[in-house]
Amino acid sequence: MCLGLAILGFILADATVYYFRSQRSSNAAISDGLDPEPPRPADPTIPADFYGQVFRSEARGNPQNAICLTFDDGPSATYTPQVLDLLKEKMVTATFFVVGRNVKRHPDLVLRAYQEGHIVGNHSFNHTRRKRISEAVAAWQVDGTAKLIEEITGERPCVYRPPFGRVHNNAMTNAARARYYAIIMWTIDSRDSAHASAWEIVLNCLRNLRGGDLLLFHDGGEHREPMVEALPIIIDGARSKGLQFVTVPEILRLTDFRRKEPGPEKHKSLPLPVDLTKGHHDVSRPLGTK
Ligand SMILES: [Zn+2]
Repeated sequence: MCLGLAILGFILADATVYYFRSQRSSNAAISDGLDPEPPRPADPTIPADFYGQVFRSEARGNPQNAICLTFDDGPSATYTPQVLDLLKEKMVTATFFVVGRNVKRHPDLVLRAYQEGHIVGNHSFNHTRRKRISEAVAAWQVDGTAKLIEEITGERPCVYRPPFGRVHNNAMTNAARARYYAIIMWTIDSRDSAHASAWEIVLNCLRNLRGGDLLLFHDGGEHREPMVEALPIIIDGARSKGLQFVTVPEILRLTDFRRKEPGPEKHKSLPLPVDLTKGHHDVSRPLGTK
């Protein structure tokens, strides 16, 4: 009898200790941050209406008042972490059009951008300024970069931005269109690659900013301090206008592209607005040189 009670008491005590131990360890896991919420990358999918299409200002007037921040030419060890820190602080998701050779140098930054909910788009492998390249080289520029991105994020990019904004009769853009990318231009050039000051960048972006705008910045290249300084002011200014930030695939999903005539040939006859091409890049120096 006494032995039976002793055994029962032992079992109960053991169970109690086990219970409290398990409670403590689960609490410790929460308080120590051992079980953080898994990263939630943005949905990169785009509607089929946009496959092979050039997208510029079609989102204007979207009822959600959505706009996109886009960053080209990175990743850069100097500026991309600063931009990512700012976006995290302001809780903004953006789209990074990366250059394959910089992806090779800084895969960690591509992974960080992806894990923090940003979209990683394709901006060619080496940002060549040559206008005439073979179809094979053009395909390598697009596919080589896509492969590098996919190796890091597990997802093939589906948005492409042409270097120098070259859309027409351009072998790389043609290769991207043939691979069902949406070709993403911009509506507002911050002029951060044209030696603009921080306040000039702020004014360039906020002066006529409205829903549907795609803003062009560069986290790659040199002398991007003014852009980094301007960015939080632009974000706050846009929010005070009632605008919200989304990624490029998100704004595509918010846009009714069927209003326009479908067909991959339709943009070939449209002239590229000259003012949009100016200042995209400083062509006097090779990209990525330090
Ligand atoms: Zn570029």
